[in-house]
Amino acid sequence: MIGSPFESLSLPAPVLSPAQAAAITSEHFGVTGELTELGSNQEANVLVQAPAGAVVLKVANPAFAAAELELQNAAMLHAAATRPPFALPHPLPALDGRTVVPVLLDGVPTHARLLTFVPGDLLVDRPVLAEPVLESFGRLVAQVGAALAGFEHPAAERVLQWDLRRVGEVVDALASHVGEAGRRHQVLALSEAAAERLAVVRDGLRQQVVHADLADYNVLTRRGADGRPEMSGVIDFGDVMRTWLVGDLATAVTAGLWRPERSALLDVVAVARGYHETVPLTEPEVQALWPLVVARAAVLAVSVEHQVAHDPANRVAAAERDRVWALVDRVAEVPPTLAEEALRLALGLAPGLAARRGSAWAARPIAIPLVDLPAPVVLDLAVTSPALVDGEWEDPGLVHRLAGGQPAVMRHGEPRLLDIAVDSVGEPDAVSLGTQVVLPPGTSVRTPGDLVLAAALEHGVRLADGEVDVLVRGVDPRDDLTEGDLLRSGEVLGQVGPPGILHVQVVAEPGLDSPARTTGSLAAAWLALCPDPSRLLGPTRVSAVHDPALQPAEHLLRRRDAVVAAVQEHYFRTPPRIERGWRHHLYDVGGRAYVDMVNNVAVLGHSHPGVADAAARQYRLLNTNSRFLYEAMVRLAERVVALLPEPLDSVFFVNSGSEAVDLALRLVRTATGRRDVVALRGGYHGWTTATDEVSTSLQDNPHAPGTRPPWVHLAAMPNTYRGEHRGPDAADRYADDVRARLAEMADQGRGPAAFLAEPLSGNAGGVELPPGYLAQVYAAVRSAGGLCIADEVQVGYGRLGTGFWGFAEHGVVPDVVTMAKAAGNGHPLGFVVTRREVAEAFGSQGSFFSSVGGSPVSSVVGLAVLDALERDGLQHNAALVGAHLSDRLRTLADRHPMIGAIHGHGLYQGVELVRDPETREPATHEAVAVCERLLDLGVLSQPAGDHSNVLKVKPPLCLTRRSADLFVDALDDTLSRGW
Ligand code: PMP
Repeated sequence: MIGSPFESLSLPAPVLSPAQAAAITSEHFGVTGELTELGSNQEANVLVQAPAGAVVLKVANPAFAAAELELQNAAMLHAAATRPPFALPHPLPALDGRTVVPVLLDGVPTHARLLTFVPGDLLVDRPVLAEPVLESFGRLVAQVGAALAGFEHPAAERVLQWDLRRVGEVVDALASHVGEAGRRHQVLALSEAAAERLAVVRDGLRQQVVHADLADYNVLTRRGADGRPEMSGVIDFGDVMRTWLVGDLATAVTAGLWRPERSALLDVVAVARGYHETVPLTEPEVQALWPLVVARAAVLAVSVEHQVAHDPANRVAAAERDRVWALVDRVAEVPPTLAEEALRLALGLAPGLAARRGSAWAARPIAIPLVDLPAPVVLDLAVTSPALVDGEWEDPGLVHRLAGGQPAVMRHGEPRLLDIAVDSVGEPDAVSLGTQVVLPPGTSVRTPGDLVLAAALEHGVRLADGEVDVLVRGVDPRDDLTEGDLLRSGEVLGQVGPPGILHVQVVAEPGLDSPARTTGSLAAAWLALCPDPSRLLGPTRVSAVHDPALQPAEHLLRRRDAVVAAVQEHYFRTPPRIERGWRHHLYDVGGRAYVDMVNNVAVLGHSHPGVADAAARQYRLLNTNSRFLYEAMVRLAERVVALLPEPLDSVFFVNSGSEAVDLALRLVRTATGRRDVVALRGGYHGWTTATDEVSTSLQDNPHAPGTRPPWVHLAAMPNTYRGEHRGPDAADRYADDVRARLAEMADQGRGPAAFLAEPLSGNAGGVELPPGYLAQVYAAVRSAGGLCIADEVQVGYGRLGTGFWGFAEHGVVPDVVTMAKAAGNGHPLGFVVTRREVAEAFGSQGSFFSSVGGSPVSSVVGLAVLDALERDGLQHNAALVGAHLSDRLRTLADRHPMIGAIHGHGLYQGVELVRDPETREPATHEAVAVCERLLDLGVLSQPAGDHSNVLKVKPPLCLTRRSADLFVDALDDTLSRGW
């Protein structure tokens, strides 16, 4: 359709030589400076570094009239006058006072303008945008619209292909350039469907002058403290025109669709949420938004094809073509009704038409059920289900086994454990939008009302009553049925086919193409369109939608905030609700599994059957305080002592790490008759009064260093990456620091009761002590009459891969060892082991007991942990997978300057993030945001260390290479594409 106004708008941008640019700026504007071409697809833009500041020379496409340029200038000035919270360019006058100056370019008349330069990083350069960033982008779009509100200009009614009011005309005019017939039909169908939806609401859409190209390539950002972009400016008012206000939002969101691992709809919803917070969308705008997104995608597609057709050698356009078609596909995947419902839910608006239809259906009586189901078994297949244990949900025959030969129903709206894939970067489709019934194959299925057979499905049918569709799968329909047949209520539809599972789903929009399952993020919107179908099965209602056990995380967090002390920590600002663990994965109730990289408590892996069985058996036999004589405690003590070198032969049982270290401090004090302790700066040893006093981890207590009591003597943390001493003599220098503390004490006539340290500084982020350090320190402390405590609470029990205990790597034998966490695989069990004379000296303090420390149940748990560690070869696995992780992480560090160091080894490591590899400035806020992105990608990690900038790597010891790879790949992706 040559001759359409849209054909002419793709004239090539004018080409300007540096000499021409210099001549225009100096002659007309009296400005000189270094020139840099900026590039644009419709004008020539040149950055001029003038002495008074940077400016941009814009030489317009000759197709633009002066009035259009005046319009742009006036729009910028209008917006600036509202003092908006973002920067924007403004026009500078030429020597003759004009802001639009006629110039001749190679004999062709056109116009030049000079604008102020707006500094910043383009949003488009950040391929991945986090939810809060998407929301802030939405707020910016709303703010730009607000800044232009009330602006009028005679040239504002322009004919541009980007005017979404004209989508039908534009696509019709340019679709012929789409060479591939399939693609052409796709884009025509999409634009037609969008136009149909828009027709209903178009008269109600607000119109005003808008920017009209608020895409990520026209938005400037500055780096936020957490490394995420913060919106700072808007440029390129070249498409300013009067059109639908909501069109601006549609254009903005369609630019990137920034998160390829999830539905495009979720990005759109996030941006719209930010917009709506600032400028509430009206009802017609909410209905129009998704059709406009589709329209914009269609226009982008035909435009790029038009460009490629005109200029086949244009490589940029060719590359853009792939991106645009991918975008079309992502948009086309989303049913518009779903999009509207998702927007309504996110914006807190009343349900849409289809959802209301669904609710109405749910209130209608059903005369004849699909099948006879007298009192069926209702299966609970959720993450919280007590019926699913020991990983048995991985068994494909599970459902039939649970049904036990009886008719059984599975719940609608349930995120099903068996559908949650582990080691998956994207969210699995785990939430069932229908219900399923286990029935003997051959069972007759009846028509539940007068319904038309709308379509045959694979092993099923789609029935319609004009209001809703009923999808029935797993049935072999009668041979004589054909599409369009009216089936009477109660008429036999067919028989349940093998393997004997009938799927029933109701969709509240005729013909709506709904999946059988969806992701947790899209579940609420889909469920609004797919009401509980269980009423088609008789009186039993089986929906998990309101199951309190599956309350979403936000709800639970509010409840927690109301009753749990605010200082009681939780991971993540908006944590997932984790209700199940299995091996090295954790599951949230919404239907997602995460690789657990932070759990040195669950050393064996989560929900270890050996531990669970031992505890359950013992609970039925005896559980009491530890002052009775029973074998399990003795056996556990024997096992522990056998794992330790001589002369460590006496065990005290407690419940936690804090108690163990607290008791260790009392032991050394009694044994030496002294009070003073040397501890490492930045260490953490517990929360009790005494262990808190020897803890100086800044992450746990930023005020710790200046507030320790006089008996605590702090020595430098021997961190050869970040500490004072980093060279080959670091071990000696750090040992000198301990010796200096001992000397200070001696000068004051005091002596140490003990030196307390982890053999690998877990709380500092997995920092390894330099070889030789611990041996020197132990020797010095002992010669000053002190004892040596190794706190193995974090790093012991085979985690380091090299030996069972961390101290063994240093060729030393401590006087006292403390252990907890892994000792009970999460069950409260801790112990202290020391030499007989130290233990006996403690007798002067009276007797010792911790009521349930080492109780019968705790002791059998402790034994089960040791058995499993041995039987499953977990120390060996820690060495193997740990080495693999180290290799991969070090390779990653070579590519990402943000990784300053990889600490630790085995399965206690730390990935230290820095802002600058030279200065090693800690990337503290970034680490929090990186962990949030990792969570999106299915990995759970948290920052550790004094600067909270070291990612914890301390997973259960059953971590597989595959999961280790998922973690490294997710980190690579995050550091490459942003967070
Ligand atoms: N010692 C060390 C080295 C620790 O890391 C911790 C806890 N993180 C403790 C002791 C205290 O253990 P708990 O939290 O079991 O009291």
